[in-house]
Amino acid sequence: MSENVLIELKGLTKRYGYGDTESFALKDFNLSVKRGEFIMIMGPSGCGKTTLLDIIGLIDRATNGEYYLNGENVAGISSRRQAKLRAKKIGFIFQNFNLIDDLPIIENVSLPLVYSGYTKTSRLKKASTALKRFHLEEREYYLPYQLSGGQQQRVAIARAIVSDPEIILADEPTGNLDSRSSHIVMEELKTIHEEGNTIIMVTHNPALTVYATRVINMLDGQIDTDIKTVADANLPQPISVKIKKKKDEFISLNDNGEKPSKKRKKSRRKK
Ligand code: ADP
Ligand code: MG
Repeated sequence: MSENVLIELKGLTKRYGYGDTESFALKDFNLSVKRGEFIMIMGPSGCGKTTLLDIIGLIDRATNGEYYLNGENVAGISSRRQAKLRAKKIGFIFQNFNLIDDLPIIENVSLPLVYSGYTKTSRLKKASTALKRFHLEEREYYLPYQLSGGQQQRVAIARAIVSDPEIILADEPTGNLDSRSSHIVMEELKTIHEEGNTIIMVTHNPALTVYATRVINMLDGQIDTDIKTVADANLPQPISVKIKKKKDEFISLNDNGEKPSKKRKKSRRKK
């Protein structure tokens, strides 16, 4: 598999029900996604777009088929491993923003970092930096309901990119926004894409496909048309220089995302 291939789906099927009630949300679905692509997925309601994003995002599982993420077959991994991979590698943006109502936006944005090994202070610092990028630094301690829809979606984008994921998935991210807010959100996604990120976005709005490097139309759980508007050679290159995690910021967390207890360490030392 080429190094540039981030996602490879082979013969994916998602079946609901059995016998008389059997139906297929995805049917023998094949797709290869390269780093730096900005894919827009379109198609009539019920054709399997959300199912596809949920499977790629490790929220859902296919009934059959293979899913390679960075060359690793992740179709059959445990739910726990799925959750960890998802936190590390995938950023999600939803139509309804999906922010947690009673958490200040800075804490909403810091949530994906729980698995990352950063201390709470560092997580909040990173969230703060991400919010600054979307000009929301003065609203860090606002609750989601105190922001407009467009602002809430920018918080959700900050949350999606805070852990530096390999791929950003967006399910109709502008579906609940007026045209002005949609435009702002799309310009933010455009910038994130130009920085070398891979984005897969579902939309009903054909006007937004100008932002895409590839447009896929789905029909009945399969690809109907698949058109690349930018050659692979011209896709943006990922920014490879990552900010090194400062040693003092980095501690390893246990599987629950908590710091290992100091007490236990001490008692072990005594033995
Ligand atoms: P889209 O996002 O393109 O509108 P979905 O991926 O949500 O489509 O749904 C694809 C098909 O799978 C639809 O026919 C839908 O009714 C069906 N489906 C989705 N989720 C379930 C479920 N939990 N149980 C049964 N059928 C489902
Ligand atoms: Mg949908």
